[in-house]
Amino acid sequence: MSRIAILYCKRIQDHSCIACAKCYKGIAERDGEFAQHDEIGLVAMTDCGDCPGLVFPRVKLLNEITSNLDRPIETLHFGTCVKLAMETAECPIDFDDIKATLESKFGINVVLGTRSY
Ligand code: SF4
Ligand code: SF4
Repeated sequence: MSRIAILYCKRIQDHSCIACAKCYKGIAERDGEFAQHDEIGLVAMTDCGDCPGLVFPRVKLLNEITSNLDRPIETLHFGTCVKLAMETAECPIDFDDIKATLESKFGINVVLGTRSY
């Protein structure tokens, strides 16, 4: 089972996807970027840390908490909401840069996107 966590866009969550119901469905159906996992254990969902891009301290805390609970994250998905924010709303996150930093610092796999619809 893959232990995953999801980061959602703080500005979009509960506006375009109420209660993250779309990603819960995506997990259940292994849709979109969830298809890369055979079985999914959702460990945590939280926001990106808000603009202008406070992802690193957010993931540092998330990693500490989940490790302390003996449920360390293997893969961190940036939600499709974050991907859309990057493409259409001038989100300041540089995904390639933060992916390299998070993977090297925390030993996790970082993926852009979740559900496909
Ligand atoms: S894309 Fe997924 S993580 Fe982002 S707000 Fe929608 S349901 Fe939540
Ligand atoms: S636009 Fe980007 S940095 Fe701002 S809240 Fe959304 S995902 Fe986070």
